[in-house]
Amino acid sequence: MNILGFSLPKLVEIFEQNGFSKLDAKRVFPWLHIKLAKTFDEMSDVPQKVRQELKEKFSISVGQCEILQKSADGTQKALLKLEDGNLIETVFIPEEKRNTICVSSQVGCAMGCKFCHTGTQGFIRNLSAAEIMSQVIFWKRKFPISNIVFMGMGEPLLNYENLSAALELLLAEKVHNFSRTKITVSTCGILEGQLQQLAKFGVKLAVSLHAPNDNIRSQLMPINRKYNIVALLPILKEYKKSSNTEYITFEYLLLKDVNDSAECAEELAKILKNFPAKVNLIPYNDWPDSKFHRSTQEIIDKFFSILFKHKIRVTTRKARGTDILAACGQLKSKSKRNN
Ligand code: SAH
Ligand code: SF4
Repeated sequence: MNILGFSLPKLVEIFEQNGFSKLDAKRVFPWLHIKLAKTFDEMSDVPQKVRQELKEKFSISVGQCEILQKSADGTQKALLKLEDGNLIETVFIPEEKRNTICVSSQVGCAMGCKFCHTGTQGFIRNLSAAEIMSQVIFWKRKFPISNIVFMGMGEPLLNYENLSAALELLLAEKVHNFSRTKITVSTCGILEGQLQQLAKFGVKLAVSLHAPNDNIRSQLMPINRKYNIVALLPILKEYKKSSNTEYITFEYLLLKDVNDSAECAEELAKILKNFPAKVNLIPYNDWPDSKFHRSTQEIIDKFFSILFKHKIRVTTRKARGTDILAACGQLKSKSKRNN
């Protein structure tokens, strides 16, 4: 059993169930999350005999790094092989003042968004809390990490239990100690109570909107037929309030001739008027066989300026790591083809 996903009280419980002591758990825990030990052998304050027994029952696995790709801009993408052979990807994005990692929450995704490569692969399984933490620990062993975004493979709110266990570890003082403002959970908009629960962590929320109306959004994102824009907005407003966050980020992928017209920008400005929103315009990362294409820079700039004119807070995401296909689901598919 991989023990990277347990809070200290949970680790104590698991240890006691397996014949170890509370003190053993208290000694092992900081080795896992603070000193980032790779093996039980490193845990010098744990008696040798206990270390031996721990090795027999538990693992500290961050997965096998199958491929580590480095982009010319410093972005790195790792393909991690899990204990059952499934592959997930996680990305490291260095910037001037921060180092962000992008973390996966599921193997595959059931949401089937048309533009998303992960979406075309279908759903395989949820990641355990340990597997979510593994990605963080994998990068923390290499770099100081300041920000985490749940924008890798999968829909984090459909793996709420393990997401929240990981968030507890990430936010805990004297453990990973991330500030709640440095963690962003991205969702396609699942409205079954998870958002209300997530609010207690106070983490930032990003919502994949990608369209200014239900007609376009339903064509791109099947989930919109269940939870449409009208249903989404009031619940997001509520999240903003109860999580005490400053605004909701709306991710808007610009897809050539699909959702990138001036009319779309006007319509978007209208629905977000008086909403505590920040729009993040995302240049599309093409993948082989995708039906969609990136909008031209001119169109992106135009779209931006319309939102700006309407006083909507707006940013354009810099395309990072495009030379290594550092977008949702792409490394995995590439390696599959190579096999
Ligand atoms: N399932 C969640 C989080 C993972 S996807 C969600 O949908 O929000 C993270 C972000 O990457 C989403 O905004 C998604 O729409 C976007 N994305 C998916 N495929 C992409 C691509 N090919 N290029 C750029 N962004 C993409
Ligand atoms: Fe799933 Fe997000 Fe991709 Fe949609 S965009 S298929 S929700 S990972």
